[in-house]
Amino acid sequence: MRLRITGVVQGVGFRPFVYRAAEENGILGWVLNGEDGVHVVAEGSEIALARFVDTLRDRPPPAALVAGFEVMPAEVAGFAAFEIRESTGDGAPTVRISPDLAICDDCLRELFDPADRRFGYPYINCTNCGPRYSIVVGLPYDRPLTTMAEWPMCAPCEREYHDPSNRRFHAQPIACHACGPNYVLREGEHSLRGTEAIAAVAARLRAGAILAIKGIGGYHLACDARNPSAVATLRERKYRKERPFAVMVPDLARARALVELSPEAQTLLASIARPITLAPARLLLEGVAPDNRELGVMLPYAPLHHLLFAHGAPDVLVLTSANRSSEPIAYEDEDAFESLSGIADAFLVGERRIARRLDDSVARATAHAPAILRRARGLAPQAIATLPSTRPILALGADLKNAIALVVDGQAFVSQHVGDLDHFPARCAFEETVRDMCAMYEVRSEDLLVVHDAHPQYVSTVYAESLPGEHLAVQHHRAHVASVLAERAEWDRDVVGVAFDGTGFGDDGTIWGGEFFVGSLRRGFVRAAHLRTAPLPGGDAAARFPVQASAGFLWALDDLPDLEAPPFLFPQRYASAREMVRKGLRTFTTSSAGRLFDTVAALLGFTRESTFEGQAAMWLEHLAAASGPVAAYPFDLLERQLDYRPLLAAIVADRVRGRDVRAIARGFHESLADAIVAACEVLASGNPIVVSGGVFQNRLLLELLRERAGERLWANERVPANDGGISLGQAAIAALAHA
Ligand SMILES: [Zn+2]
Ligand SMILES: [Zn+2]
Repeated sequence: MRLRITGVVQGVGFRPFVYRAAEENGILGWVLNGEDGVHVVAEGSEIALARFVDTLRDRPPPAALVAGFEVMPAEVAGFAAFEIRESTGDGAPTVRISPDLAICDDCLRELFDPADRRFGYPYINCTNCGPRYSIVVGLPYDRPLTTMAEWPMCAPCEREYHDPSNRRFHAQPIACHACGPNYVLREGEHSLRGTEAIAAVAARLRAGAILAIKGIGGYHLACDARNPSAVATLRERKYRKERPFAVMVPDLARARALVELSPEAQTLLASIARPITLAPARLLLEGVAPDNRELGVMLPYAPLHHLLFAHGAPDVLVLTSANRSSEPIAYEDEDAFESLSGIADAFLVGERRIARRLDDSVARATAHAPAILRRARGLAPQAIATLPSTRPILALGADLKNAIALVVDGQAFVSQHVGDLDHFPARCAFEETVRDMCAMYEVRSEDLLVVHDAHPQYVSTVYAESLPGEHLAVQHHRAHVASVLAERAEWDRDVVGVAFDGTGFGDDGTIWGGEFFVGSLRRGFVRAAHLRTAPLPGGDAAARFPVQASAGFLWALDDLPDLEAPPFLFPQRYASAREMVRKGLRTFTTSSAGRLFDTVAALLGFTRESTFEGQAAMWLEHLAAASGPVAAYPFDLLERQLDYRPLLAAIVADRVRGRDVRAIARGFHESLADAIVAACEVLASGNPIVVSGGVFQNRLLLELLRERAGERLWANERVPANDGGISLGQAAIAALAHA
């Protein structure tokens, strides 16, 4: 018989797996990687063939994702053996690179087997696991074009590499103690290598030190999460006041003690991408995730992490991207030494070079589907949508949480998370990523259709202007809505799109962020309604100060009590901001839902400065989650504008009356969910409700919407709802406009 298997089946150990299955079942014939999947020709008895097919179908390698499995009859050719044949043609390079994979069970067993020659070797890997994208410097994916090129294989590794029956057959990063890289501890003048270094690091962590540890896609900063003074020191040195840290624990049992793990969350946490998984916290770790309902947890994915725990590292480790404030993660050794010298007490340096930086991915499980909040290690690069366009498209995303998308032969690849482009190092990372992706997929820049945000001052827009080829500007919130439709390949479906976020440049030059659209990807989206506009004193700067935003949103309310008095206790900044609005000084117009969240948070007690984007909204959700269901406030569509005035007036009155702030916060969430569904009903009754934008990272809001709209609610599943998903939406709009 003849088989064709498609999906993610290349670079994941599929051919050796087929080879071994053939050996086990006495099958003759061959297997090869073709341009359109893995091809197999198999000869054997009927029973043997049936068993062979069952094995291929039921027990594929862990990283494989089988999409198609065709079995066809074939002529008997009388093969004498089963062999792995050389690949035919060049193949599209797009199918060749897999994301980095967490260590597999077989390698893990060998890692802790004293009789194995890779016992304790921190770079152990095989065709089923290990680094891919983080070590590739060019295509095809072959050792000379990876960062392993500088480590020639020893004879035993070479034998395994060339043995088709071996699990390490063509495992490009294959290495061992004798021939491969190792880890070195650098601490002042001292250095230790190998197991000694790893054991010393575990001891330093136990003693409360802060270590810079090289991982798969960059350096982490690590410390004992149960040691409040270590955590506080890390925050102080890193200039990271309150933004939550993620933690790593050795196993699922330890994870369960820290967070509530639904079956879906457990699957996500243990998936081969090993993302940071956000789940409701069960235990308060002082200083790790202040005022947060959730905690980000991950399991070990590199062999090194397992070794650190085995050598006695604290069993809850803060593991956060090594950088200063919001700069990109450090991944080159020299750069790390320089930028982290005042932060880390010592460095655990891996000798294998990292080809490109990859942060940890962040995801959250819901009963409905996982939500990706940051796509990076383990998830990038992946084709995440197929668009109806043959033209190469480069979509540059937005300036916050930037990620770019490249469309080649209709396949849309979204890059790893790049970061916030207002910092110079992030701009460099952004340009590097553009060059890297174009080179990786062999796209010539002259052929590109370049898509960018409509904001004329975005760094990504200005950069787009420096590129040759045709250009297209796409409005921010339409791109948000389009990202959901691209994931679902819904080109023609009429929907009502709801894009709620902090900031985006609107058609009329004002700051949008609470938008309703009707239309389809093919016909385009018409703005059908929006959050009632408010004056925004100080523009984007108001995003850092909830009371400043509130001065604008409360401006149109009559009979406000003195907000500087209890229970509100607004700081002086509020009065100055009100003065700015009164005089029209540096005051802009906005329909931003993000700023409405800030306003409500300020009224309920968040009157300080936000130290990271979305902090006040997160705080508000945390508060609301502590309350059971309550009645909604009035929040209705009035002349195609969602009128927040009655809502805010009722919240102010409740607060003066002394109502529990948790109930008020919950009421606000209920009101928003009611208002969105009711507005969609008016605008396009019965059509799918497509929600996207940073506001919809709010777990409670999404749950409340799901209760009301059920399957009619479409949200992001494969790209982030925040600006990290913008580039996919831009690419989809461009693909349809030029289809
Ligand atoms: Zn392995
Ligand atoms: Zn070796």
